Formats: sequence, C-alpha cells, structure tokens
Amino acid sequence: MLNYYGTVIRPPSEADSLILQVTLGCSDNSCIFCPAYKDKKFKIKNIREIEKDIATAAAYYPETRRVFLADGDALIIAQKDLLTICDRIIAAFPLVSRISMYASAKAVELKTVAELKQLQSKKMSLVYIGFETGDEDVYKFTQKYGSVQKNIESVLKLKQAGIKSNVTVILGLGGEKFSLKHAENTAAVLNRARPEQIAALTLMIVKNTPLYEIWRLKQFHMPDEFAILKELKTLLENMLDFKCLFFSNHASNYVPVSARFPKDRQKVINILDKIITQSDKRLLRNENLRNL
Ligand code: SF4
Repeated sequence: MLNYYGTVIRPPSEADSLILQVTLGCSDNSCIFCPAYKDKKFKIKNIREIEKDIATAAAYYPETRRVFLADGDALIIAQKDLLTICDRIIAAFPLVSRISMYASAKAVELKTVAELKQLQSKKMSLVYIGFETGDEDVYKFTQKYGSVQKNIESVLKLKQAGIKSNVTVILGLGGEKFSLKHAENTAAVLNRARPEQIAALTLMIVKNTPLYEIWRLKQFHMPDEFAILKELKTLLENMLDFKCLFFSNHASNYVPVSARFPKDRQKVINILDKIITQSDKRLLRNENLRNL
C-alpha cells in the first residue's frame, strides 16, 4: 500500500480523490489555533518514494480521476519535481482530470505566473488556500505567515494562470471582541480576491494549541452558536455578487450550507436569519457531533 506518515488531512471535497502524500507536515506550522501536523516537521518527500507510491496506487486504483497532494503546501516543491510528479500522475492515471493541493501564499509568491501556467497545463487546476480572516488585527493574532494582502495577491496570481482557488475562512476566529469586524473585513477581502470556491469553517478550540491556553486564561472569548451564525450572515450580506461555490458544511459548522453564489446568497441569508431569530439549539448540529 501507499506510504503514509502520521495523520493525513484533506479537504472534505477531496473525499473521493486519491490522496498522495508528497510532503510531511506544514511549512508554516505557526498558526495559534491549528492542531494539524504538530507531530511532524515539514519535509518534502523523496521524489523516488513519491514515484513508487504513484505506481502502487495505479495498480490498485487505475481509474482515479482526482488526485490530492498532501500534506501541507505541496506547491512549495521545486518546479522541476512538481512537474515530474504531475507527469507521473498523468501517465499512471489516464482518466485523471484534476490535481489539487494545499498551498501557502508564500509558495504562490515563489512561483512565476509562467510556472503556474505550466502546472495548470498538467492538470493542476485547484489550490486550497487558508485566508482564515480578512481582518488585520485578527490575522496578526493568529500568527500565521504572510498577510491579508499577500493572500489576496496569491489568489489573483493563480487566477492569472487559470488555476482555481478554494479559500478557507474561519468563523469565530476574532473572538467575541472582533466578531463582526472579522466577518465584514473577511467579506471585503473575498470581494477583492473573488476565489472560485469559499469554505467557511467554525473555530474549534483544541487542546495543546497556543489558542487553547489563551482561551483557558480567559483572554479569548469564543462567540456562542448564534453569534457565529450572525458572523456568517454578516459575511454573506457584505459579499458582492460574484460567481463562486460557497461551503459551510464542514463538520465544525452549526448549520450546513452548500450553495451556488450569487444565485443562492439571499436564500441562505434568509434561512440564517430565521434560525437566529428562533434561537433554538435544536436547529443546530449537536455540539457533540461537531468535529475538525
Ligand atoms: S492553519 Fe494551515 S498554515 Fe497554519 S499551521 Fe495549520 S496547516 Fe499550517
């Protein structure tokens, strides 16, 4: 079977994809809320090992159509090696139509548009990027690499190369203090970047993360369920009418949303409005069923 090291994480929408681990861990690993990959030091796997995994997977799943390159930030791999990986995938899986991966803004910054176009011509057509927030204060608080502006630029650059972006934002990340400011400013950066897909998760405060300690010391206050829904509603109300798929159906969310914008935007706002007005917890995903 394939050589997987440690816990392997993939976006919910890659559930049917072949997961090919090409890096270990995350190249940043500094976000205070994130429990992922804390057990791994970032490393790019040896190209021979990756080629061996592709050959093994081809024997078991020759009809693979989608491949997701795990763990974090596969785009930071040297261009020559990334092209080799794409070529091997295309040769091994004749039906493959999409290669996707997580990427940091730094990895996008390091590639030229011409290099990204080269990758796009080799089926690399979707990149997952964590914006987390569009609010400067909240971004600083997360200690994530880069900046709000760099994140916007990375999506615009990918767009220039014909590569779609799936941008993650996290409801609740501003705490009670910055709740609505976080939502409004996040909508503003989404309006500027206009990614093709948006995924809004809800913050889960997880043990053994720096945020857990800050929360335990009562220096961070998590907005309650209905305040989180207000954040989501504010985010949607402040978004402009551009075309995108909007998902808030991750296991961490209180109300699952999977919608096509701008067509469904007002419909979703109306549903959220009703739930917030009723403030009935039975309408929400059970707290025990929420997960990362
Ligand atoms: S949120 Fe993303 S970039 Fe930040 S530490 Fe976690 S995996 Fe790395």
